[in-house]
Amino acid sequence: MERRQYKLLGYNIDLFNTQEAMDYANSLIDSSSSSHIVTINPEIIELANKNENFAKILNEAELVIPDGIGIKIGLKINGINTERITGISFAKNLIENASKNNMPIALVGAKPHVIEKTKENLKKEFPDLNIVYAHDGYFDDKNTIYEEIKNVSPKILFVALGAPKQEEFIYELKSILPSTLMIGIGGSFDVWAGEVKRAPEIWQKMGLEWLYRTIKQPERFKRIFPTLPFFVYNVIKENLIKKG
Ligand code: UDP
Repeated sequence: MERRQYKLLGYNIDLFNTQEAMDYANSLIDSSSSSHIVTINPEIIELANKNENFAKILNEAELVIPDGIGIKIGLKINGINTERITGISFAKNLIENASKNNMPIALVGAKPHVIEKTKENLKKEFPDLNIVYAHDGYFDDKNTIYEEIKNVSPKILFVALGAPKQEEFIYELKSILPSTLMIGIGGSFDVWAGEVKRAPEIWQKMGLEWLYRTIKQPERFKRIFPTLPFFVYNVIKENLIKKG
């Protein structure tokens, strides 16, 4: 399966729909090396613009899925219609698939009681799921965690440390683990543990989950608000330059 990518503001984004992205992820699971799925959004791009190493990590990822309505808008400005794939639902698809095919998985991230509850809830939802490792995201020595993960050789590793921490963690592990698919999923464990609620479906469908979360957690406002308009402005600018 060939990747179809578009370079938006210097960042490669895969233009797969959900099914194609799942098929591609499965081919990565079957491959004989480790790989990294990034769920990209305007906040991540803003961070990467200020952090060269993070930008390099994003562009070396084996699959970059368009999370966030901002990316969908950015691609649309460039004449591309693509399906938005949220990291949290894509990760759930990967878990379901792992459970059906008896693939060992590992989880790293979130507060200790959150990771415990996440494990418990996932086992309830997928009784056959084989969780070979779970660790909270507040550790001092990452090398010990790398070693422990290596010893249990999971097929898929879910990392929820927030960006850019989770992507840096995965990047280092890529050269340590022989064949694991890894994905950074931000605050997903908090949702799976029931600590944070996702927006009602209607908000999700309209692509306004970010607005819902901002209203519920006003402290996110500072983080999100200037990012989206600035991102759209930069995309329009880049598009005009391309057209000459
Ligand atoms: N987190 C962690 N270790 C850290 C910092 C953060 O495990 O050193 C976790 C935090 O508990 C939360 C997640 O990382 O579960 C980040 O969530 P946030 O909502 O900030 O991520 P976003 O989805 O916005 O990227």
